Amino acid sequence: MIIWFIAAISLTWFMSYSRASLSTFTLSFVALMAIGSFLNIIGFVSWLLFAVIALPLNIDSVRKQFISLPLLALFKKIMPQMSKTEQEAIDAGTTWFDADLFRGNPDWKKLHNYPQPRLSNEEKAFLDGPVEQLCGMVNDWHITHEIADLPVEIWQFLKDNKFFAMIIKKQYGGLEFSAYAQSRVLQKLTGVSSVLASTVGVPNSLGPGELLQEYGTKEQQDYYLPRLVKGDEIPCFALTSPEAGSDAGAIPDTGIICHDNFEGKKVLGMRLNWDKRYITLAPIATVLGLAFKLQDPDHLIGDIEELGITCALIPTSLDGITIGRRHFPLNIPFQNGPTQGKDVFVPLDFIIGGQAMAGQGWRMLVECLSVGRAVTLPSNSTGGVKATALATGAYSRIRRQFKLPIGKMEGIEEPLARIGGNAYLMDAVTTMSTGAIDLGEKPSVISAIAKYHLTEKMRSAIIDAMDIHGGKGICMGPNNYLARGYQGAPIAVTVEGANILTRSLIIYGQGAIRCHPYVLAELKAAKNTDNEEALNDFDHALFGHIGFSISNISRSSWFSVTASRLLASPFNDETKRYYQLLSRFSANLAMLSDIAMLALGADLKRKERISARLGDLLSYLYLASATLKRYNDEGRHIEDLPFVQWAVEDSLFKIQHAINELLYNFPNKWLGRTLRVIIFPFGTTLKEPSDETAHKVARILQTPSAARSRLGQGQYLTKDGDNIFGKLEQTLEDIIHCEPVFEKLCRALDQNLPFYQLDKAAELGLSAQVITQSEADLLIKAEKGRQWVISVDDFDPKELVSAQSKSSPL
Ligand SMILES: Cc1cc2nc3c(=O)[nH]c(=O)nc-3n(C[C@H](O)[C@H](O)[C@H](O)COP(=O)(O)OP(=O)(O)OC[C@H]3O[C@@H](n4cnc5c(N)ncnc54)[C@H](O)[C@@H]3O)c2cc1C
Repeated sequence: MIIWFIAAISLTWFMSYSRASLSTFTLSFVALMAIGSFLNIIGFVSWLLFAVIALPLNIDSVRKQFISLPLLALFKKIMPQMSKTEQEAIDAGTTWFDADLFRGNPDWKKLHNYPQPRLSNEEKAFLDGPVEQLCGMVNDWHITHEIADLPVEIWQFLKDNKFFAMIIKKQYGGLEFSAYAQSRVLQKLTGVSSVLASTVGVPNSLGPGELLQEYGTKEQQDYYLPRLVKGDEIPCFALTSPEAGSDAGAIPDTGIICHDNFEGKKVLGMRLNWDKRYITLAPIATVLGLAFKLQDPDHLIGDIEELGITCALIPTSLDGITIGRRHFPLNIPFQNGPTQGKDVFVPLDFIIGGQAMAGQGWRMLVECLSVGRAVTLPSNSTGGVKATALATGAYSRIRRQFKLPIGKMEGIEEPLARIGGNAYLMDAVTTMSTGAIDLGEKPSVISAIAKYHLTEKMRSAIIDAMDIHGGKGICMGPNNYLARGYQGAPIAVTVEGANILTRSLIIYGQGAIRCHPYVLAELKAAKNTDNEEALNDFDHALFGHIGFSISNISRSSWFSVTASRLLASPFNDETKRYYQLLSRFSANLAMLSDIAMLALGADLKRKERISARLGDLLSYLYLASATLKRYNDEGRHIEDLPFVQWAVEDSLFKIQHAINELLYNFPNKWLGRTLRVIIFPFGTTLKEPSDETAHKVARILQTPSAARSRLGQGQYLTKDGDNIFGKLEQTLEDIIHCEPVFEKLCRALDQNLPFYQLDKAAELGLSAQVITQSEADLLIKAEKGRQWVISVDDFDPKELVSAQSKSSPL
């Protein structure tokens, strides 16, 4: 009897674990019960009980009528209410590997089989040609401090070389680059100037170009796209209003359909009124992509009065438009400002996509955002951190205090490792996410993850870098390569969906519905007005959902008990454990999601801190997966392993932290404690990346090597001219080369000389004939570089006063 019971429990567990269908589950139990009867363990009462449970479940009509129908009615009552804009946001885009991670059983082979994105020859030539040339033209201090704009010759260069047309198709004259190539261009530009990267990034992200290509009429495409390519039109996209920031669906700006005169003819059109702010490129735009709420009070185009959010292209030369004033975003003076429109009348065919797209604006925007959010801000953040990682590593090796390079001090190794580990991870995430776009995805959940986490990581990396540089980071001037990034970090955090909102609401809110295998189907069924179809769909989704939930509980508990050590991994090396732990946490996410949805129902939407932690769980699973994919795609270089170890262990630790906090704060305390026993039966055992790993990462950042070069791949590091990053790289090499000479000199002179005034040391060495002329030259060159690296800018007091005050008698 004991053996039979053990077999029954094992069978139940195995069937749930392997996600067996209801019929397989039932048939297996029939077989087991038959054996029980044969052994005289199972009697009539047990069969009766089994039949009472199994028959209604397995007979379609009975199950639907007596189980699914009442549950459907209940579900309709408790289902979260969704506005049209929320619904459209959820429907936008596609899911990709994020769905696998959400569903509790990621297929690692599938991850590694996604092709590694590569640049075409044309894209490579663009990066090595115009992009490299452009980087060499930039003087960021001149841009940010002296003229608060890009110089005329850079604007012209951008137009001439089609920098604003990276997403526009070749048939219109555009470059039609892959998302991966766009990312590489932005990464390189952002290393030299945030103003430049923002200026190039915005028209290639959400804006008239993207909207026209996706939804424009042929006439609109033929007219505008070639003009955008040549730079004859400067576009901007105006959605945000003073009253509607994060809640962009609530814009008060209106378009009323009416008849009026346009260019001497009476036409059917819209009278527009708007007040927008924060609009990038608006001060110099020639064409406004405008979002407003379209109304048809006189029923001139149909029965509907409130047509909803609509996007139109409005030439800024029309009467009634105010444009030209600028905001001043955190000393990163890219063109950004307000615009107002008063009773501006335009024909209906100014709507992007024509009259047919009236009221479809929100859907258009959220769909485009699914792509754009994964490219521009994540790439700008990544490029910034890669440049920062190399520069800070070099500086830490060159700058000495207490007779040691500061980078050798354990206190400095900690933030250095954070910068290095995150730089590796961030590049992995941009590569994988843009790769997904190039495979045809519009990955809305992934783009929210990439936007939130990469901009946050950029902010923390730049703060770490500032701390490491001390006063060198603080004193601003042409030679300060950090301060503008530090000042401007909150911009990326705020735009394209402010980060608190993105973490609290979007990542998991959209992730849960889009990535879950059954929730979307249940919601759709509950909204279906065809009762029979609704019941069939709901029944199918509901029982799939129940099986899925049971399976995730079995899997989670098994992985906890076995510490996930029995799980298969695609590699049997240092990364094996990471795959096992990620699979385990993925099962935990699937289980916790279902339990949170069941326990909180529609309240989950308001429980933002629960939603945020579940979102963190999904996000860190994605970030760690991207890191492992990068390591594999690049050929599993063992020297890169410290980066991988730091990045994955940091992500795993943060997953554990998110689950821990979630369970501690779970609204139902009893349920929270029970879940803790299932997930952490032996407590929270994962640790942050070790000091040893941090030490290894810090060492790589300070020593030229293939691993370090891979970390900074694609950045503007040319050593010619005035490129600060190139000069830092050169000085790092010179210092490392001259150290053995310096030590030889100290030994020969039997003196413990300080590691400065190396030129004087060279003279000493030459006169004592203990070093050669070429060794002395090396010391002199290194000293020159060293002096430049540790120097900071100073100014004549008048130079720091703004132009207006200079002319003031006071
Ligand atoms: C430099 C710059 C450039 C921009 N460029 C453009 C552009 O080109 N076109 C355009 O249309 N717009 C643009 N924007 C607007 C930008 O996208 C919005 O600023 C952004 O959406 C946030 O709106 P807000 O600043 O009004 O903040 P608010 O909406 O007032 O938000 C304030 C805070 O509340 C949080 N919050 C809001 N709702 C929630 C919630 N439900 N749960 C949790 N937290 C929440 C936010 O995360 C934020 O931290 C730009 C903004 C800036 C600053």
